[in-house]
Amino acid sequence: MTPSASAHHLFHPINSDAWATSLLTGIDHLSRQLRSVTGPSNGTAPELAAKLVADVDLDAPLGDTAAALAEMSKLYLDDAVWFHETGYAAHLNCPIVIPALVAELFVSSVNSSLDTYDQSIGGTFMERHLVDWTANRIGFPEGSADGIFTSGGTQSNLQALHLARDRAASHGLDRLRIFTSTDGHFSVQKAARLLGLGDDAVVCIPVDAQHRMQASALADALAGCVADDLVPMAVVATGGTTDFGAIDPLDDVADLCHAYATWFHVDAAYGGGLLASQRRRHLLGGIERAESVTVDYHKTWFQPVSASAIIVRDAATLHPVTWHADYLNPKDAAHPNQVDKSLQTTRRFDALKLWLTLRIMGPDTIGDYFDTVIDLAGEVHAALVRCADVEVAAEPTLSTVVFRYRPHHLDPTRVDELNTRIRSALFASGRSMVASTKVNGEVWLKFTLLNPLATALDILGIVDQVRAAGAEMLMGADR
Ligand SMILES: *Cc1c(COP(=O)(O)O)cnc(C)c1O
Repeated sequence: MTPSASAHHLFHPINSDAWATSLLTGIDHLSRQLRSVTGPSNGTAPELAAKLVADVDLDAPLGDTAAALAEMSKLYLDDAVWFHETGYAAHLNCPIVIPALVAELFVSSVNSSLDTYDQSIGGTFMERHLVDWTANRIGFPEGSADGIFTSGGTQSNLQALHLARDRAASHGLDRLRIFTSTDGHFSVQKAARLLGLGDDAVVCIPVDAQHRMQASALADALAGCVADDLVPMAVVATGGTTDFGAIDPLDDVADLCHAYATWFHVDAAYGGGLLASQRRRHLLGGIERAESVTVDYHKTWFQPVSASAIIVRDAATLHPVTWHADYLNPKDAAHPNQVDKSLQTTRRFDALKLWLTLRIMGPDTIGDYFDTVIDLAGEVHAALVRCADVEVAAEPTLSTVVFRYRPHHLDPTRVDELNTRIRSALFASGRSMVASTKVNGEVWLKFTLLNPLATALDILGIVDQVRAAGAEMLMGADR
């Protein structure tokens, strides 16, 4: 058979030369681009970025890989945000490990879909093995635990709360309540909405000075819930809050969930990397008592997006998402089908990234990376508490540091506005990126440190930029 001229773009052995050439062109392009990167971003304004993209006529192909990549650089790579740069300290994005990138080649090229065995064969069992391995690290009982890879913590939390809702649904949806701390992730509120529970269903429990859920306040709230003839459907404890890395008192929460027969979910999207740590695994003590756990491998396991999982103590609790389609996963299927446990149908073999990471690097190296950035946060915090013109919000548990620029002479009513402007100035400079958040209604800046190559000197250099930007703004205003 002679392939038609237009078939030369297909991934197929007849095109293996073109395939290899194209990929090498891509690798070469990216290598050159990487060498030209001098900071985490260049702070391009949205109007400019939008204009460049809007001008492209998608009906007029360039027909050539190198030309399309050159165009892509102008639209995207030249302005991209690079998480491997030490000046990047904003959100929960990690630099990624090379073994996972090798895996990406196979994930996309073979293009297995993990919904059914007959689309993935060994892939099904590799994903299951990773789920079992993670469950074992959590400390779930051998043999009964299960889980599934998901697109991220948001989906993992949604699925966990869906399972919890299913267990409690007979009480009537409008009576169900979910408890999480005021610092819990917003995906809990979003899940409540999607599950038809409404915004009032989520009860936020106050936190202590370390930003951990107050167990005594949770006890009061649960008692009040029952007294009001409402039903405590689930408690979501956070194993590393997004802003402070705070870990809720998991054992206390487990005791209360046990007393009220309430679903205990641990959102360890951020802190899940501690499962690989040789020095800090104990920080997640009590997680083994949960009903379900969210782990984001694309945060503290240094994996490319997407890679996350929901892990459950008891495989049987996953059944609410099971639907048997005659054409795909019939009830009497002879093979194991992962779609029986997933919100998704067609699903990438993202697990392969973690697989090759573990097989090439091993879990201890991943754990060491996370420990390294937690150590770094501690060092940066210790240096900041000694700075007269910087205020620090709380001692870090994981790898975030929340702080703000506040020289003594500054009018207290101007602190919020000044720090908001400092953050924008840093972004526009392209030299560094920090996040901002609100603590008790006030604006603070935040470092999220996930780069094992960053040093305290690098991060304190960003603090110098914060200080310089702030001082310049104050001088400008006084003139
Ligand atoms: C990041 C995060 C999430 C959301 O995870 P995605 O992967 O971004 O969907 C949920 N919970 C916590 C605590 C997080 O930090």
